[in-house]
Amino acid sequence: MNKRDRKLGMDRDITRRDFLNGASLAVTAPLLSSPVAAALEDSANSTAQMARGYYPPARDGLRGSHPGSFELAHLMRDGKRWDDPSDSEDTGEMYDLVVVGGGISGLAAAYFYQKEAGPDARILIVDNHDDFGGHAKRNEFEYNGRTLVDLGGTEYIENPDEYPSHARALIADLGIDADQSDQVYDFDLYPSLNLRGGVFFDAETFGEDKLVAGRAGMVPGDKQTAYITLPAELENGTGDTDAIREFLNRTPLSDRARQEIFELFCGDTDYLAGYSIEQKIIKLRSISYIDFLTDIVGASRETVDFFLMWRASYMGNGTDLTPAFSAMRYGLPGAASLGLTETLRSSGYQPHSYKEDLHFPDGNASVARALVRRLIPGVAPGNSMHDIISAKFDYSKLDQDASPVKIRLNSTAVHVTHVDESTVEVTYVEGESALRVRARNCVLACYHAIMPHICPELPEQQKDALAKTIRMPLVSINVLIDNWKAFEKLGIFSAYCPGSYYCDMRLTYPLQFRDYQSPRTTDEPMTVHLYRIPLPGGDVHAAERFRLGRHELLATSFETFERNIRDQMGRMLAEGGFDSARDIKAITVNRWPHGYAVGYDWQSGQMNYWSEDWSDDQRLWLKGRQRFGRIAIANSDAQASAMTESAIEQAHRATQEILNES
Ligand SMILES: Cc1cc2nc3c(=O)[nH]c(=O)nc-3n(C[C@H](O)[C@H](O)[C@H](O)COP(=O)(O)OP(=O)(O)OC[C@H]3O[C@@H](n4cnc5c(N)ncnc54)[C@H](O)[C@@H]3O)c2cc1C
Repeated sequence: MNKRDRKLGMDRDITRRDFLNGASLAVTAPLLSSPVAAALEDSANSTAQMARGYYPPARDGLRGSHPGSFELAHLMRDGKRWDDPSDSEDTGEMYDLVVVGGGISGLAAAYFYQKEAGPDARILIVDNHDDFGGHAKRNEFEYNGRTLVDLGGTEYIENPDEYPSHARALIADLGIDADQSDQVYDFDLYPSLNLRGGVFFDAETFGEDKLVAGRAGMVPGDKQTAYITLPAELENGTGDTDAIREFLNRTPLSDRARQEIFELFCGDTDYLAGYSIEQKIIKLRSISYIDFLTDIVGASRETVDFFLMWRASYMGNGTDLTPAFSAMRYGLPGAASLGLTETLRSSGYQPHSYKEDLHFPDGNASVARALVRRLIPGVAPGNSMHDIISAKFDYSKLDQDASPVKIRLNSTAVHVTHVDESTVEVTYVEGESALRVRARNCVLACYHAIMPHICPELPEQQKDALAKTIRMPLVSINVLIDNWKAFEKLGIFSAYCPGSYYCDMRLTYPLQFRDYQSPRTTDEPMTVHLYRIPLPGGDVHAAERFRLGRHELLATSFETFERNIRDQMGRMLAEGGFDSARDIKAITVNRWPHGYAVGYDWQSGQMNYWSEDWSDDQRLWLKGRQRFGRIAIANSDAQASAMTESAIEQAHRATQEILNES
């Protein structure tokens, strides 16, 4: 190990499992209790979820799409088939419904089906991961006798007041009261410690490492959208020209870049003078925000670099891919001087106050857990949105003979076919075994892109539409640190890092539930959240960049993620006394190669976040999600929308389609 790595703490004991190209390397952890060590070793065998102590949320290292979860699916993508029944063993089981995919959509499909068919309906859910929930993933850390919970994927219930009817009813039926959002989120905690959003300028991109905190005492405006990683003065809604000027003067940016950025936020230059409002909208929909900066504003490279990863973890890509019109909806500057503020306010998606979002410590994993507790009551105690956080889940109860609903983890569906008009056969691979079960109905709630491979009998046109579904890759990381005094000294709780490996960083959300309290004092251990958006590829079209990003993400070793975390956090927080080698205690890297669902027009190469202005021909997901015999199709891909409520609404539609046909 070289000197630099030692200084970063690459030789320190943290629990980690490092897999690259299938090879595994385990490093033990004296600091962290690891009650699942035995089960971890077993995770490839068929009874893994029945093993004593099997508890995947407590695993760290590479999570999300963890090693062992995706390799089979990739074999199918590359041509392997399981269509010969002699290749699998018949379990003899017959279900009313088999659901492929145990994410929010698959769990919701089971819930909606059971609601109509009754509590005795026999339902099997199979998922290729070692945990249920899909993107709604829980990460846990045990440290110094304390359990810290954080989210590994889905962040929160966004804008629940606007939830569509079935999603709203499901959430309420699970005992989740969205009106408690401002009681469980302590909006005062970080401001009371004088912590603000900031920007980290890295030396490689901006010539000097510098962390610039937002102005003290400034809080985000009321119409601030989610993901508060930026200084409040740069957010939409504040419009404080003095504060913006003063912030820019503290950055290492050149005078030219400062002036360009100031002008974008506060100036009155109409960059599209001569265009009507309608023409401006058409133009801004057809170009990326970075194209707007370079081709229309004539901005410098520095200004482009400053805005490149703005809200990237929220949008799932850089602003070189986000249509300029969508970017402005999310607070990137320019709309005011273009005269579009009112148009943005009155059309399509409405920015809402982040104070209306409902956060759980583990994000929407709490929704997944509440669904599982409802479907299989013996698996965990309790019945409220408060006790779901610390409810101990017994994974061995997920698949019991006596329970009408069963969840089989570590199980990849490899073949789905009708055996006659009223029976579907589903073959799945679990450990070393290929097994097949039968059902009256099947809901495919997995990614749409895999469906043509596991269900080859679908009509060709439909398979073509499904195969063209795209997802944006991203990495969502939790770092356990011993204390957060450095954040207090530097006056930040979050930072946008436009040029760095991780594009933003924030302390855990300050939450207070009846049975769970996130850290309140700076000498307590804390979890820090970081995002990486891998976007190699430069000029190639978005779908290809996401494919390359997916490849990068799966080819990156834990060691590389770790080194970059230690390096970046060390550089950002050094002046606050942070020492990566000393202060970092554990790291969980949640890879989401098939991350946010989004609409994609293969002809123009454009993405669409709000599909209302697309023709039906462009909305490929409408063709992809057609029912086929006893097989219905759910998942957030069915709405091309990376939202929890979309996953739930599509589950409702899919189950209605098969129930109405019964
Ligand atoms: C990092 C991140 C943050 C997000 N934040 C938010 C947020 O704050 N608010 C919000 O509303 N939404 C958010 N989203 C989006 C939201 O999480 C998703 O829209 C929703 O959870 C998708 O649920 P799903 O069931 O449709 O798909 P998924 O969660 O992808 O579940 C599908 C499941 O099917 C499995 N599967 C695939 N193929 C097979 C197979 N052959 N056999 C068995 N199983 C298979 C998959 O592995 C997966 O577990 C976020 C997404 C990500 C990735």
